[in-house]
Amino acid sequence: MIPRAPKGTDDILPPESERWRRLLREFDDIAERFGYGLVITPVFEATELFGRGVGEETEVVEKQMYTFEDRGGRSVTLRPEATASVIRAYLQSGTRGVFKGAYAGPMFRYEQPQAGRRRQFHQVGVEYIGEASPDADVEVIEVGYRLLEVLGIGDAEVLLNSLGDPEDRVEYRRLLAAYLDERSGDLSPDARRRMAGNPLRVLDSKVDSAVVADAPVPGEHLSPAAQEHISAVRSGLDAIGIPHREAPRLVRGLDYYNRTVFEYESASYGAAQSALGGGGRYDPLAAMLGGPEVPAVGLAMGVDRIVLAMPVSEVSAVLDVFVVTADPARRATALALVRRLRGDGVSADLDLGHKSLKSQFRTADRRRAAAVVVVGEEWDAGRVTVKDLKSGAESSVAAQEVASWIRGH
Ligand code: AMP
Repeated sequence: MIPRAPKGTDDILPPESERWRRLLREFDDIAERFGYGLVITPVFEATELFGRGVGEETEVVEKQMYTFEDRGGRSVTLRPEATASVIRAYLQSGTRGVFKGAYAGPMFRYEQPQAGRRRQFHQVGVEYIGEASPDADVEVIEVGYRLLEVLGIGDAEVLLNSLGDPEDRVEYRRLLAAYLDERSGDLSPDARRRMAGNPLRVLDSKVDSAVVADAPVPGEHLSPAAQEHISAVRSGLDAIGIPHREAPRLVRGLDYYNRTVFEYESASYGAAQSALGGGGRYDPLAAMLGGPEVPAVGLAMGVDRIVLAMPVSEVSAVLDVFVVTADPARRATALALVRRLRGDGVSADLDLGHKSLKSQFRTADRRRAAAVVVVGEEWDAGRVTVKDLKSGAESSVAAQEVASWIRGH
């Protein structure tokens, strides 16, 4: 039997992978325009990083990590997210002050797999490190919004909440713990266990939604400074026309967040696990990892889910042109034409075997070429026939002008 990809993982192949390519290109372009440099960190890290960074009591660390001992007896973990790694890299490199980084890559969580919930999934994200201003939160939120917008997901909305500062949380935690204590008979065993470690985690619990619905929310217990911060984020988003909505129970699954937390939702992705991305401010993280106090805010977008939400029209043909010829004597000419088209920025290919014309046309279809260029006798008069594979229309085009003709279509 041929081996299969592990449960909860996917092979991303053409033509579907064209959506991925489009997404990664657009992200790269936006990140560059907003001033984020490329960051590449290891796919695995010392396990301790995630215990300290993401939080021992979190769902991710407790149940979802791919942790193993390497041959040297060290405990390592496939990264479940990238923020802890990026901050680690920032601290380890001795970087000081503002640092803006963008990343893209696979993350690993041992989940119950379903559509949009995979064991290996992909994120693109940015981290704005070293800046406490609410304008940094607005910028990071804008990056995710612009990505969705350019990919044709124009109905995205930002869900927004503030968790306050660690000091605000002391009082809030007390109130929440008292409330949960009162209702502990109605809570799941999991939630009861979490109550002891970190009662905020219970707000994340889907199975306890009846109890959670009446629980006090963090936004009612903010210090004036935290209140001012989230108001500034709101007006910053209003000023640039990014739609947002209060989500008082949004706490997000990781321990390092303070103040602003957000997620993106869209009706184009209506599945149960509906967030296309999310993030927040994580000022406490650098110190949690043993570094100095460094304010920071970041974002992670779920590539697998965004691709599912992208309208079909956003998927372009894999190839602009497939060049064919019936005459073996003209193969070298066809190859030279392909090379010239590639040089002119047109994606072009041809069959390198000695196939019949009919078979070459079939390949063009299978490869999802937008057009076929036929190199035949008219080549001697400096012309080729271009066939649009969608409409079936044929045109005679000067060989020198194929690239500009294709671009004009
Ligand atoms: P998180 O920081 O955990 O909320 O992850 C950010 C985004 O990554 C989510 O909003 C999802 O779009 C995506 N994501 C998280 N976990 C998975 C998963 N197991 N499979 C697919 N996408 C995921």
